[in-house]
Amino acid sequence: MKIHECQAKALFKAYGIPTPRGTVAQTPEETLRAAHELGTSPLVVKAQVHAGGRGKGGGIRVVGTPAEARKVASQLLGTRLITPQTGEEGRPVETLLIEEALTITEEIYLGIVIDRSRACPVVLASSEGGMEIEKVAAEHHDKVIIEEIDPAVGLRRFQANRICYDLKVQTSMAGKMAGLILDLYRLFTEKDCSLAEINPLVVTDGGHLVALDAKLNFDDNALFRHPDIMILRDLSQENPLEVEASRYNLNYIKLKGNVGCMVNGAGLAMATMDLIKLVGAEPANFLDVGGGATAEMVREGFKLLLSDRDVRVIFINIFGGILRCDTLARGVVGAAREFGVNMPMVVRLEGTNVEEGRRILAESGMRFTVAAGLKDAAEKVAAGLSSKEGIEP
Ligand code: GDP
Ligand code: MN
Repeated sequence: MKIHECQAKALFKAYGIPTPRGTVAQTPEETLRAAHELGTSPLVVKAQVHAGGRGKGGGIRVVGTPAEARKVASQLLGTRLITPQTGEEGRPVETLLIEEALTITEEIYLGIVIDRSRACPVVLASSEGGMEIEKVAAEHHDKVIIEEIDPAVGLRRFQANRICYDLKVQTSMAGKMAGLILDLYRLFTEKDCSLAEINPLVVTDGGHLVALDAKLNFDDNALFRHPDIMILRDLSQENPLEVEASRYNLNYIKLKGNVGCMVNGAGLAMATMDLIKLVGAEPANFLDVGGGATAEMVREGFKLLLSDRDVRVIFINIFGGILRCDTLARGVVGAAREFGVNMPMVVRLEGTNVEEGRRILAESGMRFTVAAGLKDAAEKVAAGLSSKEGIEP
């Protein structure tokens, strides 16, 4: 789960990480009031959306006066901000963060993420922070410091000190900086983050360390033990189909292609997407209905695929274990009838009660194509895409 910068900064404060003075606003009038209350100039008006690259997308604006802040707010609020990370649909701007602008002398990148290949959290740091960090990481590996954390022991002070040394942080600031890295790690573990990032962490002209930006992502599987985090969720920033899926505990991720997939088991779902690509087609989504899916979940999954306008062919790939093939077939036929599907549907079934399942599909009188195996299924999907009429069963 993602949260907004202003929410992440509130958590930073609670963990002793310094942030600029600021207030949130949701209307131009609130912006004007917030700017007056801050009482400094210049100010920064920051669009709150669940995406980075806001600076490049015009979502971060430095202004001189409260009146100017109000004007910028009226330009930003109610629009969709497009950044290099959002895709062309952008994200809605409903909230702004109004902050004192700081004079920056250095921009540092600091992040903590789970590194799956190393199987541990790592601290990433670079003296080349700011808006071009992806470029720095791609072109100058030597400019990115990586410190592995043993999760059993936690991040040790000597490691934080070593990062500061490698960053060539001024001696007078090294103690504070090391403390800040340790604070960020404490936040990262206590709140079950999957990412905690400050880019940029700045040194101001007054010699202070301040988190100018704040990004926290949380492990969804741990949210049940963080009700304080769960309430921070902003559904308006998420894909509507994904929001709908999460209501039924379906693992759904919207993708760019036109083959709607419904699969049980994440591994099989990944393999299915590979297969679709192998025959030259593109999956419209990842959908894992789960090993123990019920007929109701199958129905909801089906509904999701159909509400996606990009979908041209449906591909159902199920291994009947706990979910029996006949249950699945009944669920699918029922849903297809209920929603009046008029596109090709390729089904590959294996497992418990498979014969019964295939019979139900065949006798449904609907446009199901039952495939003989995985490869056959993928080829039939490709054929379904290229023909207007659909495929012969
Ligand atoms: P992002 O583009 O979504 O990562 O948004 P950031 O919060 O990182 O802002 C983008 C850039 O705007 C930063 O890297 C800074 O260079 C600049 N910026 C943001 N706030 C201030 C500020 O108070 N003073 C100055 N001088 N620059 C700022
Ligand atoms: Mn940033």
